[in-house]
Amino acid sequence: MKAKKIVFIVLAIAIVIGIGIAFGIGGNKNKSNAKYKVVASNFASYDFLRAIIGDNKDVELTFLIGPGKDAHSYDPTAQDLIKIQDSDLFVYVGGEMEKWSDKVLDSLDTDGTEIICIADFVDTMEEKEVDGAEEHEHDHKDEDEHHEEGEEHEEHEHEHEEGAFDEHIWTSPENAIKMVNALEKAMEKIDSENSNTYKENADKYIAQIKDVDSKIQNIVDNKVRNRLIFADKMPMQYFIDYYKLEVSAAFDGCSTETEPSAQTIAYLQNKVKEEKIPVILYIELNPGTVANTIANETGSKAMQIQTLHNVSLDDFKNGETWVSLMTRNIDVLKKALQ
Ligand SMILES: [Zn+2]
Repeated sequence: MKAKKIVFIVLAIAIVIGIGIAFGIGGNKNKSNAKYKVVASNFASYDFLRAIIGDNKDVELTFLIGPGKDAHSYDPTAQDLIKIQDSDLFVYVGGEMEKWSDKVLDSLDTDGTEIICIADFVDTMEEKEVDGAEEHEHDHKDEDEHHEEGEEHEEHEHEHEEGAFDEHIWTSPENAIKMVNALEKAMEKIDSENSNTYKENADKYIAQIKDVDSKIQNIVDNKVRNRLIFADKMPMQYFIDYYKLEVSAAFDGCSTETEPSAQTIAYLQNKVKEEKIPVILYIELNPGTVANTIANETGSKAMQIQTLHNVSLDDFKNGETWVSLMTRNIDVLKKALQ
């Protein structure tokens, strides 16, 4: 009997440790006694909330999709669903990129949760056709299933029911500022006691965004050419429009493909030669193989641009932010446009 009891205790301890490890894998502090739990689906919202919350230990912030992954292939785990359901504030983007969100919000009991579709706070545009980009099929087949009546988040569906809005909203500084302001208001709503701190933190962050914006604008003002070439997908249409640039790319923003056809490569290569373009871009989380191939063929240079679609694991560990990553783009844009 005694031996059995010991085995039982050992097993019980192993299970508890196992659960602890499982919950730790998400990369966020687990089992905290935080007063407020805030969950953001994508990196930009997470980063803005991190800046707004500052050092307030009463708030636990979770980056749901997590660093180093393609946001388009994310699907919430059972554990993620619990995090959403238990949160005081849940922020998501929606659209094609987060088509899981409507279903999840329909199925969970989120009565105690403030739910923010952050795309509702900026002027969204429809997905534009990108010069050079290969066609891809949109998966819209389950759109009609979302429409349940009486749901509290019903009001945002009007805008998103086409599923074709460009969800990469965070790439323009103008939108980033709108997002920070909306998220700051949301934090005030769940924790009004700290309103002043949230406001101050948000204002400080907005000042940093404006600073990067003016540095990029300065490069754009002094440009000698207007076209950026992405040998990759191109999730920066809001950025391109904001700075009035032109773009050619292998794929549009939400393509999950990474291997362009020989025809696409040839098209981009010709463009580079014709317009004497010095830099071929590829985005974060991509090794840049295609960009390097084109660069070698044309005598130009392959460089990585940060679209902030997601952040690499290393950059995440180093605490990189929207501002610090966008700052990296300054040098890239200088070489690409001047
Ligand atoms: Zn995308």
